[in-house]
Amino acid sequence: MKQIVLLPGDGLGPEVMAEAVKTIGWFNKNFSAGLETSTGDIGGCSIDKHGVPLSDAILKKCREADAILLAAVGGPKWDKVDYAIRPEAGLLKLRKELELYANLRPAKVFDALVDASSLKAHIVKGLDILIVRELTGGVYFGEPRGIEKLPNGERRGVNTQVYTTHEIHRVARVAFELARKRKNKVTSCEKANVMESGKLWREEVTALHQAEYKDVELSHMYADNCAMQLLRNPSQFDVIVTDNLFGDILSDEASMLTGSLGMLPSASLGGIRPDGKRAALYEPIHGSAPDIAGKNIANPLATILSVAMMFRYSFDMMKEADLLEQAIENILNKGLRTTDIMAEGCKKLSTSEMGAALLGELDALKSTKVAARA
Ligand code: NAD
Repeated sequence: MKQIVLLPGDGLGPEVMAEAVKTIGWFNKNFSAGLETSTGDIGGCSIDKHGVPLSDAILKKCREADAILLAAVGGPKWDKVDYAIRPEAGLLKLRKELELYANLRPAKVFDALVDASSLKAHIVKGLDILIVRELTGGVYFGEPRGIEKLPNGERRGVNTQVYTTHEIHRVARVAFELARKRKNKVTSCEKANVMESGKLWREEVTALHQAEYKDVELSHMYADNCAMQLLRNPSQFDVIVTDNLFGDILSDEASMLTGSLGMLPSASLGGIRPDGKRAALYEPIHGSAPDIAGKNIANPLATILSVAMMFRYSFDMMKEADLLEQAIENILNKGLRTTDIMAEGCKKLSTSEMGAALLGELDALKSTKVAARA
């Protein structure tokens, strides 16, 4: 059996998770997928019940799992809680404790949603980029850090951008491996022109490429240029690999090319453990959306697309991942929409109706395939 820990979290989390769970159930029933789920608290709901955003018991469960599926954490109810035990601290702790160093953020534009982008349709049509962001190093964690008072009364804030060979190689390796399964192209981004850490990043990515991945096309780009190129000609990219800070910004920029927060999944991967398993957390990129939580109008597809990523990256279930993504594409092509992606002439569905429509489409696709084989 494949053990999955479900962390619905706060706000719209439980609503979108419920639809993801039905999808997982569909694959168990129709493909004997052997996916076993258990549920835990994280974020605000965990603070309310256990006094902490991530309890040791849930952390242990996550450590032992084959994959984790999280919906979202946070909300105004916990805005005044001490920074160290805020809902988001639970998520940061999970990423840190499991050493999830590679964050995968696909930005894919479905044909049916091409007009949702803020860019012109001909620029984003067919777009399919994967950003691999280093997640556990760099300036967000580097020492020294802090705010100090200077003798002249001024204050000084310090953060340190720092990377080691090992940290660069392991994330670049993920990018090269994934590129081999896509269009075989990696663009590595840093600021080697003005930062020593960027110079090291470029040298080490180049060295790894020469030693192990010569078959993959590699180019280097300054991160500021990459920000511009993502708007000018995003289709030039396949896999982009970059550090924590630049990745934070570039992946948010790339996600906006698709125009729909409710459609974007992500994965955060750790190293291969001694038992041969890789720690992995799958989650939509959106937050807990307190403005629409509890109304049954949230888009569950980002969470369900995160399930497709889980099939692909944790369980090697490529056929199932393709089928799930195809079913999503089909329902969009049929004009079925939740409020956030609603367009003229389309049919508006609630969260649960979207989940049900997806199961119906999966049934239809399965019988078409069976009929085609007969
Ligand atoms: P958000 O992503 O929750 O919402 C931004 C906007 O997008 C809102 O208008 C919301 O209604 C809409 N939206 C988001 N997801 C949607 C979906 N699936 N379907 C339809 N519409 C959707 O970001 P925010 O408002 O800045 O943050 C709200 C809370 O979520 C905060 O407490 C924040 O800290 C937290 N947050 C958590 C995560 C996470 O759990 N990984 C990420 C971002 C923000």
